[in-house]
Amino acid sequence: MLMLDLQCDICEKDISIGEGHVSITYNIENFMQKKGTLDLVVDVITSDQIFTMCGKCANKRSASHAEKILETTLRVSDPRLN
Ligand SMILES: [Zn+2]
Repeated sequence: MLMLDLQCDICEKDISIGEGHVSITYNIENFMQKKGTLDLVVDVITSDQIFTMCGKCANKRSASHAEKILETTLRVSDPRLN
């Protein structure tokens, strides 16, 4: 049986195949435009999963709340932290 090496970063529960979960990834990416069609495509250079929650922990936290926490944390104006 194939096992995932994936755990909830809050409760440390193992996350199984087929089990809903929430992940926050940190992508370095670059938008490109196709010649001819001018369609936009994204070129993902690197993708790191930086935070994972099992379904139970994720249900206690909304996406908008997580977004506010990230915005507040990443907009720190203290130059020692940037
Ligand atoms: Zn959890």
